[in-house]
Amino acid sequence: MNTDVARQVSVLRETVARLHGELTRYALVAWTAGNVSARVPGQDLMVIKPSGVDYDALTADTMVVCDLNGTVVDGDGAPSSDTAAHAYVYRAMPEVGGVVHTHSSYATAWAARGESIPCWLTAQADEFGGEIPVGPFALIGGDDIGKGIVSTLSGHRSPAVLMRNHGVFTIGRDARAAVKAAVMCEDVARTAHLARALGQPLPMAQADISSLHDRYQNVYGQRPAPG
Ligand SMILES: [Zn+2]
Repeated sequence: MNTDVARQVSVLRETVARLHGELTRYALVAWTAGNVSARVPGQDLMVIKPSGVDYDALTADTMVVCDLNGTVVDGDGAPSSDTAAHAYVYRAMPEVGGVVHTHSSYATAWAARGESIPCWLTAQADEFGGEIPVGPFALIGGDDIGKGIVSTLSGHRSPAVLMRNHGVFTIGRDARAAVKAAVMCEDVARTAHLARALGQPLPMAQADISSLHDRYQNVYGQRPAPG
């Protein structure tokens, strides 16, 4: 690893360790289930959570660096048991810089039914651009989960997929964006659940969904200062 790459890895170790705190802050995880990873830009490397370590014990030093086949390159612990899925996504989707996995309750309840979340909320239109889709049932261990994520999200506006009978995987241009998608996915899943429990939510027009998505993705938020 040359000095520039080592510096990038060291920053990403900090970032990925800190972002795991958002999973607990937003109550997206129980025990040690749930993980964040980041691609090292321009390298066939990623930084990911170690397997089975308490969230309170996660530090930059405990993060594991793997190549994009999931082989450990730097780190003392074994990487997350979901490493193969993260690695598959990075290999197949070069634009993705961060991946998150959770079993957050409301979103996973939709996954348990194999039911995509229809777009009933402007917040969902903003972040997901329409429904949040369901991916196939897949066993952990090989490339099946990664393949299911990539086949569902390729060409889809949603950065989140509900893997059937399992849970949520999200992608983003970086790890923070993927964590945000995981937080927003659980938020809209909860509201959609409550809305439907009490009646039939009202549909939104596709043109309005697209307009909201376009504005949020391209206009909303702080712009860099001109010049
Ligand atoms: Zn899982």
